[in-house]
Amino acid sequence: MLIIKDISHLKLYLKAYQDKGHSIGYVPTMGALHQGHAKLIKQSRDHNQKTVISTFVNEKQFNKKEDFNNYPRNKGKDYDFCDLHNVDVIFEPSSEEIYPDNKSKLINTYFQNILCDQFRPGHFDGVITVLNKLFSIIDVNKVYFGQKDFQQLKIIEKFIEEKFPKLELISVSTARHEEGIAYSSRNENLSKKQLQEFINFHNAVIQFIKDLDRQTSINDANIEAKKFITNLSDQNFDYFEFRNTNSLELEGNISEARLFYAIYKGQTRLIDNIDM
Ligand code: AMP
Repeated sequence: MLIIKDISHLKLYLKAYQDKGHSIGYVPTMGALHQGHAKLIKQSRDHNQKTVISTFVNEKQFNKKEDFNNYPRNKGKDYDFCDLHNVDVIFEPSSEEIYPDNKSKLINTYFQNILCDQFRPGHFDGVITVLNKLFSIIDVNKVYFGQKDFQQLKIIEKFIEEKFPKLELISVSTARHEEGIAYSSRNENLSKKQLQEFINFHNAVIQFIKDLDRQTSINDANIEAKKFITNLSDQNFDYFEFRNTNSLELEGNISEARLFYAIYKGQTRLIDNIDM
């Protein structure tokens, strides 16, 4: 496994294998790797001869400096993790390498003013800005994203269609702990007590969903969703609502929806979405 920090070396590596006709898969991450990332890596390895992962904590997508500073980082463990999962290359650039002028920021125009975009203004601008840069450097065949960040996935789908039409996006379903919650780098910031509370909450959500008739309209289900969270003690949400899986609008019934939530446990913001 190689750890590459500069763009020119990475490009040389990619070109050498592309010239041989090898297919290369790319898994963009922010490090602090876990079994969710492993699922993306596995798919890339199944589909391609080489797999490149990037572990870049992108300051531009954090709308709060404190959140950026508190984001978990564990480089040593990430190297072992990638080695264990047979990654070929870790691309680990510095901020200066990615943003030499530190000025330009793209503006996202898709799925705006709802869900995470409503509560983290500028977040998706930062996401597409860094991907624009990374896709220009890592000019490969296939890229892997998780459904755990569903709004992000939908935005990137549109962004790739428009800007990188030759790149194939593969969407990977969410990897979950036995207890039901999604693997997430941010889980590392939870105390034992917060983690248990979060598991209990998530399981209550699953039960709440099971009890709903699949023909319920999204609007009616959202009235029930409001009641459900009002009855919980000590819960702090950005959102907790059903939305249509395709349009992310409030149209249709819940058989064609997902339940999206962003909940705080202390300072830690946790998001998930559950397929009906
Ligand atoms: P992150 O490092 O959190 O930016 O995530 C990098 C990629 O891994 C994104 O495409 C995420 O959607 C994906 N991802 C994160 N957690 C999971 C999970 N539990 N299951 C599947 N994919 C995930």
